[in-house]
Amino acid sequence: MTDQRVLLTGATGFIARHIALQLLQQGYRVRGTVRSAAKGEGLLATLAQAGADVSRLEVAEADLTRDAGWQEAANGCDFVCHTASPFPARQPADKLALVPIARDGTLRVVSAAARAGAKRLVVTSSVASITYGHGKERDAVFTGDDWSNVDSPDISAYAVSKTLAERAAWEEAERANLPMVAINPGLVAGPLIGEAAGTSVQLIGMMMRGKLPAVPDIVFGVVDVRDVAAAHVAALTAEGAIGRRFIVSAGSLSMMGIGRAIAEAFPEYRGKVPRFALPDVVVRIAALVVGEARAAIPELGRRKELATEPARAVLGFAPADPREAVAATVRSLRELSRAG
Ligand code: NDP
Repeated sequence: MTDQRVLLTGATGFIARHIALQLLQQGYRVRGTVRSAAKGEGLLATLAQAGADVSRLEVAEADLTRDAGWQEAANGCDFVCHTASPFPARQPADKLALVPIARDGTLRVVSAAARAGAKRLVVTSSVASITYGHGKERDAVFTGDDWSNVDSPDISAYAVSKTLAERAAWEEAERANLPMVAINPGLVAGPLIGEAAGTSVQLIGMMMRGKLPAVPDIVFGVVDVRDVAAAHVAALTAEGAIGRRFIVSAGSLSMMGIGRAIAEAFPEYRGKVPRFALPDVVVRIAALVVGEARAAIPELGRRKELATEPARAVLGFAPADPREAVAATVRSLRELSRAG
């Protein structure tokens, strides 16, 4: 038992629940932030159901948009793991719409962590902070040295928010002398704990329900949520991690490939999963009338290679097959619908 306390922001989230579970299993105490007391009760109940010793878990109320609660939440914590961030399924048209929540909220967390004297801060960033807005000509492998270009017209509001929030975290942590690590996951799949369903899970759910019969030719780096959580837990104490950004992805899957992974694991979805890859020209025409299709255009046909060796070497990242991660999401969603 380490008995050290970790502040986990956004503890109700899809990824954070797995981080909480693994932290508790490894003997940490966890203080999870939630936006309401009711959400805190739900979190305790679902983690208890997942087999966690919730006597070591406490919840604290704090919202990224407000100062209240963050310092009290951070006080007495040895480590801080900051996962909370808005992750909407639909992208707002205003590219800067999510920045005040993501960046200013992150600054609140970093300042509170520093004032509390935390030993290390681990920030959940994203490949969205690394691979976007570089233009079609960019074909080199993406590493932790790359940053998304927020001034590019080809970048979503979500990617802008993740990039500016992570940049702000590095600057503030350096100013406050707080050791920091960033984890930059690809699209996260895998089993759900409780009913939490982040945006990445919703994409798989839509494919299962036949809502996406045809999809654009877009490829994601996909990774299992359990491997993402393990990387966060390792990053709290791993030697050689401080000051670094770690890409965590298990491998690339196109949207068609995600559909195939669903149908391979559960043949009954064969008639539901995407059946056609839309020709790029069709997506471009659709984008003229359907605003939501616009975000897909810069990604059409792109194959981005992601460097995961640093995460493997420093954090012991040894990811499961991305198709198995997708199948685990489906299994979980089926169990939840049977339970509900
Ligand atoms: P979820 O939507 O499941 O979790 C987001 C969490 O952030 C929730 O706990 C949510 O609280 C909290 N949150 C949102 N807005 C606020 C706010 N204003 N104040 C306080 N808390 C807030 O998403 P994921 O678990 O998928 O994402 C977690 C993190 O991982 C995010 O930073 C996301 O950007 C990042 N990430 C996710 C990837 C993915 O594919 N899932 C890929 C790469 C990075 P509440 O429950 O109250 O809404």
